[in-house]
Amino acid sequence: MTVWRDVIGQDQPVATLQAAVADPARMTHAWLLTGPPGSGRSTAARAFAAALECPRGGCGECHECRTVLDRSHADVTVMATEGLSIQVKDARELAGLAQRRPSVGRWRVIIIEDADRLTERAADALLKALEEPVARTVWLLCAPSLEDVIITIRSRTRHVRLRTPPVEAVARLLTDRDGIDPRIAVDAARAAQSHVGLAKRLATDESARARRRKTLLLAGRIHGLGDAMSAAADLAAIAGEESTASSAERDAAEKERLMAQLGADPAARTQPPHVRSQLSAREKEQKTRATRFSRDVIDRSLVDLLSIYRDGLVVRAGSTVPLINADLADEVQRLADGRSSEQLLQAMDTIGTARERIEANVPPLLALEAMMIGLRAPSSGLG
Ligand SMILES: [Zn+2]
Repeated sequence: MTVWRDVIGQDQPVATLQAAVADPARMTHAWLLTGPPGSGRSTAARAFAAALECPRGGCGECHECRTVLDRSHADVTVMATEGLSIQVKDARELAGLAQRRPSVGRWRVIIIEDADRLTERAADALLKALEEPVARTVWLLCAPSLEDVIITIRSRTRHVRLRTPPVEAVARLLTDRDGIDPRIAVDAARAAQSHVGLAKRLATDESARARRRKTLLLAGRIHGLGDAMSAAADLAAIAGEESTASSAERDAAEKERLMAQLGADPAARTQPPHVRSQLSAREKEQKTRATRFSRDVIDRSLVDLLSIYRDGLVVRAGSTVPLINADLADEVQRLADGRSSEQLLQAMDTIGTARERIEANVPPLLALEAMMIGLRAPSSGLG
């Protein structure tokens, strides 16, 4: 096995990165990896980091490779944002770190997972560091697309573009790596539209499958205005359930750890002022994180919803392209029977608009309500 095993369906980008590992003339000190969600940007960045540290160029088995991949290598720093943006304070810290020689490894690698979330000031704080290479320091910035990254950063980095991996490649990884039954792996990979993490969750987590199903079934039951409003509320609630399920436990553990660090007594009725202020700062961060997470979850639900209309279009066109929601073929057929192709396209546009509005900070429920009203089934049959 090699460090590149999990970077699937990306032959050309991997070849570029491997060449840089092997040949100093093809190496550069700052890279920008872009690709749609689920294409494996941060996986690729980590694999590249491991290959750079590995004396054998990324064997996947040595101490260097393993410590980079399990995130414990001393010279590989990963900045993963949990808030809505990366602040100037964090950027300055990274810029300072970049000046230091690697302590044990061959390179100091700094990975910024969400370079699209750098604030203008944070980007400014990084510019100098990106402009003046330090001998053994490499920057790996990741973002969904070039356009998402502040232009001054873009121009100082070398761009590598990842694409959405094919369904079959994702399924093969789930089978080889996680031991998932091949048939289930293909269904999950298709349902997740090639998003590796999501596909794994759908293949292994019954409640994730149930939530997805509930979202998709919404499409067929929006007739009147009342249905639309309740479908919007349901979609928000399903997303809320998912966010809560994944953050409650983590928030509590973080709080406990913080209390221990501060030497505070968790059982005490009141905490001393310094503990209180630290706790309230942490709660604020957790709240920001929850907001971002729940927006991401809603967006993913909308991508799911989009997929059933897309399938409807495939059926209407009589195409042999596989359905994303093969498990809901009846539902897809009903949707296709009740709408013209134009109406299905319109529905997809309506969902696209809702995604844009939520991204632009419109309160999600508001955007969802407007969307569901737009998605009401046409009353007079085919138009
Ligand atoms: Zn190795």
